[in-house]
Amino acid sequence: MIEIDVPGTGEKLSLEHLVLDFNGTLAVDGRIKPGVADLLRELAARVQIHILTAGTFGGVETQVEGIPCVLKVLSGQGQTAQKAEYVAALGAGRTACIGNGRNDREMLRQARLGIAVIQEEGAAIDSLTAADVVCLDIAVALRLLLHPLRLTATLRV
Ligand SMILES: [Mg+2]
Repeated sequence: MIEIDVPGTGEKLSLEHLVLDFNGTLAVDGRIKPGVADLLRELAARVQIHILTAGTFGGVETQVEGIPCVLKVLSGQGQTAQKAEYVAALGAGRTACIGNGRNDREMLRQARLGIAVIQEEGAAIDSLTAADVVCLDIAVALRLLLHPLRLTATLRV
């Protein structure tokens, strides 16, 4: 579990799950970004990691090999809703989400902590406004979770 105090609000975030979009978030052009696997392995000791993907570029299973995670390949229409429903089933109140695309907006909105990342694909404006925090880069976002005091500083009122 990752616990984050939010001074000025009396809130304490207790996060047990981390749900991540794959393409544009963990990967660029279908390939996982350098350093990301190591950061996820470190985080996996504290939270259950879930990776959601439409598999746009294929080969996701190979890319996430060695990362302790639940991989969920989405199919068909309504992927915005599918992602949001996945987070709701885990319990949005104990879940953090990281994503970039427009179909991440609802999971980012409902998650206890939503982080939007920009990177090479850019981020959809709807997802930026749905998130609690915006990072330029996934490695920075994952390190926020490894060093929760950084988030305390960002979220305090
Ligand atoms: Mg994406």
